[in-house]
Amino acid sequence: MSRFPAAPSVAALMLVAGLVLWHGHGRWWQWPDRHNPWAPLALDEAPGWLTRHKLGRLTAEPQACQAFLRSTPLQFEPQPDRVTGPGCGFTNAVRLRRTHVLLAEPVVLSCPAAASLALWERHVLQPAAQATLGQPVERMQHFGSYACRNVYGRAQGARSQHATADALDVSGFVLRGGRRITVAADWAGQDDAARFLRQVHGGACGLFDGVLGPAYNRAHADHLHLDRGPYRLCR
Ligand SMILES: [Zn+2]
Repeated sequence: MSRFPAAPSVAALMLVAGLVLWHGHGRWWQWPDRHNPWAPLALDEAPGWLTRHKLGRLTAEPQACQAFLRSTPLQFEPQPDRVTGPGCGFTNAVRLRRTHVLLAEPVVLSCPAAASLALWERHVLQPAAQATLGQPVERMQHFGSYACRNVYGRAQGARSQHATADALDVSGFVLRGGRRITVAADWAGQDDAARFLRQVHGGACGLFDGVLGPAYNRAHADHLHLDRGPYRLCR
């Protein structure tokens, strides 16, 4: 005696979906890397729904992170891991001599933060400079990265992302041709420089975890704080 097969169970459907996905990844059809969670991060890929996932993975995979940096124009030297005090020091950090642009000073930055910086320069900073100001950025000014201190330098409280070299404070830019734009002088304006700064601030939010500027508080009146850390904050 026969009977109708039971309605396919959820487990069976998931199995079929899994096989299709695996097959799609492994064999006869390749997803574009941008939509493929297994594909490594690529500098020229436009940021998309998987970019933060791929950036997050670099935190757990130091070698993959440095391989990504080697695929970019960033000039860097890996730094030995260092512990300098409670909650201070860094692992998997690099000393950046230059990025897509000249740096006013070399800077020690964790590899995941440097990876975010590379994507931000490639997909946010330079396109915004070209579109808004008609020139690329040639030089970036900053207040540095690594500092063993608490948030706002307070005696008590949480360690800053700077204490683990996971944050960079960007204070200004020099364009090709010499025009200088600073957060301190230009953020509050109504002109193209102000629009440019707001674009690069907003665009950083998808590529870093914490992004703080003059709108956040007076401590950030003269720089954009860009960090890779446990908290999502974009102000
Ligand atoms: Zn900062």
